[in-house]
Amino acid sequence: PVRVRFCPSPTGNPHVGLVRTALFNWAFAKHHGGTLVFRIEDTDAARDSEESYNQLLDSMRWLGFDWDEGPEIGGPHAPYRQSQRMDLYKDVAQKLLDGGHAYRCYCSQAELDTRREAARAAGKPSGYDGHCRDLSEAQVAEYRAQGREPIVRFRMPDETITFTDLVRGELTFTPENVPDYGIVRANGAPLYTLVNPVDDALMEITHVLRGEDLLSSTPRQIALYKALLELGIAKSVPAFGHLPYVMGEGNKKLSKRDPESSLNLYRERGFLPEGLLNYLSLLGWSLSADQDIFTMDEMVAAFDIADVQPNPARFDLKKCESINGDHIRMLDVKDFTERCAPWLKAPHAPWAPEDFDESKWQAIAPHAQTRLKVLSEITDNVDFLFLAEPVFDEASWTKAMKEGSDALLRTAREKLESADWTSPESLKEAVLTAGEAHGLKLGKAQAPVRVAVTGRTVGLPLFESLEVLGKETTLARVDAALA
Ligand code: GLU
Repeated sequence: PVRVRFCPSPTGNPHVGLVRTALFNWAFAKHHGGTLVFRIEDTDAARDSEESYNQLLDSMRWLGFDWDEGPEIGGPHAPYRQSQRMDLYKDVAQKLLDGGHAYRCYCSQAELDTRREAARAAGKPSGYDGHCRDLSEAQVAEYRAQGREPIVRFRMPDETITFTDLVRGELTFTPENVPDYGIVRANGAPLYTLVNPVDDALMEITHVLRGEDLLSSTPRQIALYKALLELGIAKSVPAFGHLPYVMGEGNKKLSKRDPESSLNLYRERGFLPEGLLNYLSLLGWSLSADQDIFTMDEMVAAFDIADVQPNPARFDLKKCESINGDHIRMLDVKDFTERCAPWLKAPHAPWAPEDFDESKWQAIAPHAQTRLKVLSEITDNVDFLFLAEPVFDEASWTKAMKEGSDALLRTAREKLESADWTSPESLKEAVLTAGEAHGLKLGKAQAPVRVAVTGRTVGLPLFESLEVLGKETTLARVDAALA
């Protein structure tokens, strides 16, 4: 049975790279009817925080991910927070030492640095040189007498490691490129290098799908796995698949620190989880050459890790917005109006709660749904309905109110006065004929009307907007613009 894991560290805001990793694991598990294990890698007390932990869970829920084992759910391998599993790691570290798979390393940082520099200068591999691999008892006694506190280092086998990456195919690492590495700090704290594969082994993970940035740790983990197999701690070595890098602006790797990588930004701007996930799925994968828009069910049905492309994916915010807009249009109207609700209230909405008019909102919502890319845009698009006066900005006003606008507005007012206010067609006809009287096409004629009534040069379909706003208010606003 397929068992995959999503195992973030709670260090700061969730970012899009992390979400993409979660998504691919989730889709892979669902596709194969497997199990998704959600594990929290919080062994770095200096960097992890409870706040980030809560944010992570909240984000996963918001995105709509479900997991089969993990926080809030439990499971046969509980606990799923590494900070609560410290005894286990200690035990495994001791077994690795006892079995000769690891050793205590007494080298100081300064000594390591000096030797690394020397190796570099000589053009030799600059990783750990194996200095403490086989210390004699006398040497150990001397180091101890000097008060040195050892770390625990894993002994890499002197052999080439080859594995077939699910995304990249066969990869080979030679021993000089994979030196012995630390697994427990001098203060006894176990490191990612130990706890991650140990938990993957104990939790019987079958497939590790994660970012390319972790590729260099894979040969080490495979070697550690083999030691765990020997010790009877692991049952088998999982398959590995490394997801491509995500590139941001200027073709640089999108980093956690880039503002556009923060998941919170997308929530605050009113992306739909399904729109964002649809876009993120395209970072390395595609459903088919001619279909960019799909549901998560469609993704799950089609997802094959072998279709993931190894070359870097480019993050394109415009495309992300456009795909999100398509998902907004896929909602049924009721769902759309409900999802807009938070943006129609404080702190987003500039109108007083008592000025909000539910029936006007229901009437305009279908027209807004055809236009939005993100839900937060709704506020500016409908404020003309709920504010006593439209918000005018200088630039829109001067852009629309050219010479002759007054004359046009007067005619438009006359025609609108006698139009049939139960039909946007009739309102359109009114502005169209007013325009004709002044030699203006509809587009030019409607601009001053739009600014007078909504305060903006762009917005929702104008005649539907006027109809919803109502005759009295519309005419009053045209009068105010003429005054
Ligand atoms: N906690 C690690 C991270 O967030 C997990 C890496 C892995 O998937 O192995 O980078």
